[in-house]
Amino acid sequence: MSEETIFSKIIRQEIPTPLLYQDELVTAFRDISPRVDSHILIVPNKLIATINDVTSEDELTLGRMITVAKKLAKEEGIDESGYRLIINCNSDGGQEVYHIHMHLLGGQHLGPMLSC
Ligand code: 5GP
Repeated sequence: MSEETIFSKIIRQEIPTPLLYQDELVTAFRDISPRVDSHILIVPNKLIATINDVTSEDELTLGRMITVAKKLAKEEGIDESGYRLIINCNSDGGQEVYHIHMHLLGGQHLGPMLSC
């Protein structure tokens, strides 16, 4: 059983964070320390620690994360200019919060895909 992170508290609104989107499967809110002009996190309501812990039962949720990213990109006005979706996994992937989340990044030119 994975340990809850701050994201579970945000999803349940025990820590008040403005939500950009919430339904029965996913929740979206702005990153607390945005790396680019538009930096949103899209998080499954269910605690899944890493992408390694995903099962076939999660496919609907993972698909919803993409459709919500598309909707929010349009609302942010970055759908035509473009954006990037990132899910980090474990330490080499740069994961800091062990409740999977998709970063929606845009609002400016993002440059090369990786800086190592
Ligand atoms: P990771 O490195 O795990 O892919 O990304 C975790 C992200 O969560 C980071 O970009 C970090 O700024 C963000 N974050 C960490 N704690 C909080 C928080 O309490 N509220 C919000 N909105 N974002 C957070």
